Amino acid sequence: MNQLLEYQLKSIGYDGVLSQSQQLSLFKMVNESYDKARYHRSSQRSMLDTAKNKIQELRSITNDATDNKLFESEEKYQRLLSNLQPYYFFYTKSNEGRLISIGDSVSDMLGFSEKEFIDKYSDHFAYGLKSDIETKMLISEYGYNVPYELSLENKSGVLCHLEVTEYLIFNDENEILGIEGIVRDITEDIVAKNRISNMLYRDTLTGISNRLHLEVLMEKLIINTYNKNKTFSMLFLDLDYFKHINDTLGHDVGDLLLQQIAYAISDVIRANDIFARIGGDEFVIIFKDIGREELLITIEKLMKCMNQPWIIKEYELSVSASIGVVRYPEDGKTTIDLMKSADIAMYKAKSNGRNNFTFFKQEYNHSIYSEMELIQDMPLGLKNNEFVLYFQPKVSVMSNKIIAAEALIRWIHPKMGYIPPDKFIPLSESTGLILKLGRWVIEEACRSIAYFNECNPNKKLNVSINISIRQFQHENIYKILKENMTRYAIEGEQLSLEITESIMMENHEHMVQKLNELKTLNVNISLDDFGTGYSTLSYLHKLSIDELKIDKAFIDEIPRDGDKSIILDTIIAMGQTLDMAVVAEGVEHEYQRQYLKDKGCDIYQGYLFSKPLPKEEYISLYIL
Ligand code: C2E
Ligand code: CA
Ligand code: CA
Repeated sequence: MNQLLEYQLKSIGYDGVLSQSQQLSLFKMVNESYDKARYHRSSQRSMLDTAKNKIQELRSITNDATDNKLFESEEKYQRLLSNLQPYYFFYTKSNEGRLISIGDSVSDMLGFSEKEFIDKYSDHFAYGLKSDIETKMLISEYGYNVPYELSLENKSGVLCHLEVTEYLIFNDENEILGIEGIVRDITEDIVAKNRISNMLYRDTLTGISNRLHLEVLMEKLIINTYNKNKTFSMLFLDLDYFKHINDTLGHDVGDLLLQQIAYAISDVIRANDIFARIGGDEFVIIFKDIGREELLITIEKLMKCMNQPWIIKEYELSVSASIGVVRYPEDGKTTIDLMKSADIAMYKAKSNGRNNFTFFKQEYNHSIYSEMELIQDMPLGLKNNEFVLYFQPKVSVMSNKIIAAEALIRWIHPKMGYIPPDKFIPLSESTGLILKLGRWVIEEACRSIAYFNECNPNKKLNVSINISIRQFQHENIYKILKENMTRYAIEGEQLSLEITESIMMENHEHMVQKLNELKTLNVNISLDDFGTGYSTLSYLHKLSIDELKIDKAFIDEIPRDGDKSIILDTIIAMGQTLDMAVVAEGVEHEYQRQYLKDKGCDIYQGYLFSKPLPKEEYISLYIL
């Protein structure tokens, strides 16, 4: 970063990386500061040149410049310079690093006599604090010290801000005689700067930090905390039903309440905790170096503080807050991520009945991560191999042996972990990405079948693939299948396509034609989720369907006591009549399997036997 820019930013309390939102507002200010700095530089430089010339002049008078002579000569040119307002001069003796003289104008400005000033403030100047050698090294590197700021009280106790630039003074033998300093009164600049940063960083209603300031402070804190391997905790506090107060009692009451709340919270937290209002009734508090116990006690105190009666004008209001709690770095490594997690935790607290607090948990992410974000992440996920196929065994009801498997897609998202297909398949259907995803599923399933065959050449089991209606509408499934079957040397008998009844809803003649075309590949067609969709019984015999999958809803209704389940019985009987294999989905209990066995259902699938498994686990299960 440009050194001057860095200096300017530091001077308004910022030394981290700028977020985009801050850049614009700071840009104007920095620009002005640049102009100012340029002006100061040139006037300081010309001032300095004048001073240096004077010193040369004086040195030529005092050839042998001892401390005393220096002192004398200084007195002389001090007088010469005293009319050069607003710059002020002083000298120090280098070997002691102590202030020995100040110019009249410095005394005038601060209202002290020279002696009073030196007694009071000698230690405040940088070289007074540093060792002699340090100072010399610092200064001789550049010839002058980087200007530093000093805030000193004048005799009447008013704070004045000074900028001090230091130079080394040499004698003719090039030995360091001392340090001279130029002091500039920058009180006006500082006041203006404070006003600007107040405007930028303060919340006008409550006087505490605003969102921009919070972001700046957080970014700084994150860098510091990261470097020191430490943690911090952040609370996101949102008042419950504040809008109601605003709407019914008016904004002025709402504003007064917010002011009182900010004031009361300031009383509960420590002075060095970060406290900001970032929206209407949203506050953020950051606790540095706080243990869990102390954190809990503080949250407890905050909740109590909220629940006190608030007297605003003639009203007595009761208030509560929902608080989300996050920890750095576990719940987010950047300001944005931390805020997002805190927001999620806060909403969780709200949904848990308000007036409470919730620590963020990674799993909350799933429910909140927006659909938009999922949609955006999907193409990259496909590219980065984040999708995998799991295999759930289809098992013989009679023998309990695996006879086939269903391939089910999973998305292992880098940030959110496992995302269930019910969540992203419908999104991919609405964006059209299902076509790409579907092609990937077909290819991956074929590749897997080839692998299974290789592992177990004696048992060439069938694998079914779920095909979305969109794929039927917009893809040449026949061509894609054929290509992959050829490429991986797979027979049609080893593949089933699971389709839902909804396929028959539109343009069924066209669909019948497509299905018949697929049949020429010898693949099986399976009717998924049977019984839940539109009744297409009249088409069942027209379509060459090989398998009916009875939806889990019907299996759930199987009575435990051996009673009858009429619809299920009818579906099983119908499948048998039409010469279709009948598969029961979602079988979780032995009594369900028993029932299915009694009714002559052929195949079942469900957690009773196995959940969907990764490729390797599935193969080890069926080889055994
Ligand atoms: P589906 O085709 O009806 O798949 C059966 C779902 O039931 C699977 O959920 C499976 O994990 C779950 N399941 C199996 N046995 C049991 C059980 O005993 N109890 C319970 N509670 N659930 C069981 P999954 O894998 O989450 O898939 C959900 C849906 O996502 C699938 O429903 C299917 O419609 C769709 N899907 C999955 N993979 C693909 C794919 O590759 N392509 C397309 N287009 N859709 C897919
Ligand atoms: Ca299925
Ligand atoms: Ca199903």
